[in-house]
Amino acid sequence: MDNSRVTPKRPLPVPPPESLPFWQAAHQRRLTFPRCDACGKSWFPPANLCPHCLSDGFHWEEACGRGKVFSFVVVHRVYHGYFANKVPYTVAVVELDEGPRILSNIVGVDPQKVHCNMAVQVAFDEAGPDMTLPLFAPVEAVRKS
Ligand SMILES: [Zn+2]
Repeated sequence: MDNSRVTPKRPLPVPPPESLPFWQAAHQRRLTFPRCDACGKSWFPPANLCPHCLSDGFHWEEACGRGKVFSFVVVHRVYHGYFANKVPYTVAVVELDEGPRILSNIVGVDPQKVHCNMAVQVAFDEAGPDMTLPLFAPVEAVRKS
């Protein structure tokens, strides 16, 4: 067998302790983010202190799963062998309806048709036995599926 032709495994996030609750919820197909008990503001990525007021009191809130493309890039270069036949793909900052901005991929649409302010909805992608990735697809694509 010629191992050079084997597609490398999909690279997956290695969550730091402060984001484990986020990934555990995602694996249950729930999109969550931290919200401060002191000032009421939210943030992302997860951290154990509120970046707005430095309080360590916060709770995890479940997002509705909808948002809009805040910014994006279309990746054409293969940075990892897994993506050799997956370029081009879209990496985007999605602003959730609740406010936090999350780095993810836009799927279910030609990268050339992605635009800022495009309405998107979370589309969970089970990437492994312990890992489900919250990706985003145009709201129209989610309705059709
Ligand atoms: Zn705060």
